Order: sequence, then C-alpha cells, then structure tokens
Amino acid sequence: MKAFMIEGKDRSGVIDIPEPALTDEHSVKVQVESCGICGTDLKIMEGKHTQSIGQKRIPGHEFAGVVVAVGAAVEGLTPGDRVVHEPIAYCGRCYACRNGQGNVCGSLQVTGCNRSGGMEELFVAPQRQWHRLPDWITWDQAALIEPYTIAAQVCARADARPGDVMLIHGAGPIGLMLADTAMHMGLTVMVSEVSEGRLALARALGVPHVLNPREENVGEAALRITKGEGPNIVCDCAGLPQMAEEAFRILSPAGRFVPVAGVPFTCDGYLAMRKQLTVVASRLQMHQFVPVIARFGLYQQNAQRMITDIFDFHDVQEAFAYACQRKPTTGKIVLRFHAARG
Ligand SMILES: [Zn+2]
Ligand SMILES: [Zn+2]
Repeated sequence: MKAFMIEGKDRSGVIDIPEPALTDEHSVKVQVESCGICGTDLKIMEGKHTQSIGQKRIPGHEFAGVVVAVGAAVEGLTPGDRVVHEPIAYCGRCYACRNGQGNVCGSLQVTGCNRSGGMEELFVAPQRQWHRLPDWITWDQAALIEPYTIAAQVCARADARPGDVMLIHGAGPIGLMLADTAMHMGLTVMVSEVSEGRLALARALGVPHVLNPREENVGEAALRITKGEGPNIVCDCAGLPQMAEEAFRILSPAGRFVPVAGVPFTCDGYLAMRKQLTVVASRLQMHQFVPVIARFGLYQQNAQRMITDIFDFHDVQEAFAYACQRKPTTGKIVLRFHAARG
C-alpha cells in the first residue's frame, strides 16, 4: 500500500509499505478516506518537531475512513462502518491517567506525532481509538473533527460558560474552530489577527468582533467592547509571549488565560493575585470526540468554509509544499484518498 513517509528535513515521499494486519482481537483496520494537514505535520516536515527529529515518520492525526476488518473481540463496529480516528493512546495507570487526564499520560502515544500516522491507505488501531461517523458528515468535514475536539478541550479547560467573553489571539484553523465552538456555546467572541485573509475567514464564520492589531490596540478594543470589565477568557493561539502580558492586564477579575500555542511567557504575579486569575493549560483532548461528533451539525457550515484546499493523496508532496507556504488565505487543507466517492 502507499504511505507518505517523512525521512528527515525536506526528505519525504510516497513509498510502498506492507499492508498492516490486525494487531490483536481489539484492533480495527480502516481504509483511510480523508486526512487533514495540521501545523504539527508541517513542523515534522520542516524538522522542527522535537519528538520526530531523527526519525522516519508517517504523519497525519486528523483522519477518517471505512472499517475493513475487525478483531474477534470488537463489538459495535463492522466492515463498512464510517469512523474517525482519535489520535491518543495512554497507559491508564500513571497519575495523569488515574486523574482522568490520559491526554497528558507520561507515556502518551500520539498518532502521526510519536508513532505512525494516517497518511497511508490502511491504518490499524484499537477499537477505542475509532469513533463512528454519521453519514451526513462528509469525508472532507470528518478531517476537521479532531481539531474541533482540541477547541472543545480548550473551552472545557477554560470553564467557558454562556455569556462569557472570550478573546482569541490568532485566526489559524485552531483559533477559528475555537471561535466557532465558543460562539455555539453562547460566548461572545473576539478574534485578533494580523492577516487580512484570516480575518476575512473569521468574519465569514460570523465572529462578531474581528480585530487587527496593526490597525488598533487590541487590548483597548477588548476593554471597550466589554465596557471596561475586560474579557473573561483570553486564549493565545498565535504564540506571542507579549499577548500573555497583555492578557493579565485586560482580563476581568476571575478571568482565565489559556496558552494554547504553548510558548514561554512571563506573567505579573501581582495582577494574577489581585484579580484571582487562572492560567489553565490545554493539551490535545480527553473524551471530546463523542460530544463533538454529536454537535457537529452546529459546526458543519463553518467547517466547510474553513476547508480551502483539497488535494488527492497522490499529490501529498505538492500539498505539503503548498501548506508550507502558509498563505494567509489558506484555511484547512484536506487530503482525499478516493476522490470519486464523495
Ligand atoms: Zn493537529
Ligand atoms: Zn498514563
């Protein structure tokens, strides 16, 4: 079968590898139909992904497909079923796992990151890493379910509630899916972004407050929009350390800051104490696939708007070259394995 292998910085290509067999009685074999290209995949390609440096890697963690074989102990999934992949596998025994946070398990295995990913024709994983996909979600849209679970996790970790005001820095796919998720939860959302192309996409999704730091002071705008109280949640999806400092200044008392992009930052401990702020980190997701699939009807239109480019899997090399240009008008890029099947 065909697989897309990254062998090192800028050395990659489609190769032939043996078809995978079921690994045990709980495993499920899936014929991949669609796979999203994520920033993490680009980092692997560019040799900037710490867990993959010096390793050969088949990337891809945002994928869906059709079940072709199931182990003897698998119940509730049969060949022909449509499924989406959950990319995390955890030990179930360590402190994080015992506390319901398997997504930060000490021996966490992430598909397409520190183990083989979905940019190949067939993929085998335990049944618990597959979720049934309703017929009304298209293959292209199915590739956005995983990043939508990341957005759902951010909202859960930030204790987002209807009526809260959330400021999101960065309108890349995660920032936009977070905005969409928060809007549907009843939050008031502001998005700040320097790229006009991405701002246009944010507007198209219905974000009510779209701010460009090159044109206005975002902190002041956020205070004005909230009538001086400040946003209740600030999420950094842009990876700008100065945004953290500003967040501590403008957050309302009892506010929450979520460093989604995960860059180092310094914070003012006095302001944090004074306003009893919470810094809450969010990594990957835990138990978000089932609710996100159930709610996907809410996101479907915007999910479709975010898909700006579709490539045939045979052109994966070209798709990565295009993605690495990081054009401001690029939303989500999806690879399709069998274009004719709709
Ligand atoms: Zn991703
Ligand atoms: Zn664990």
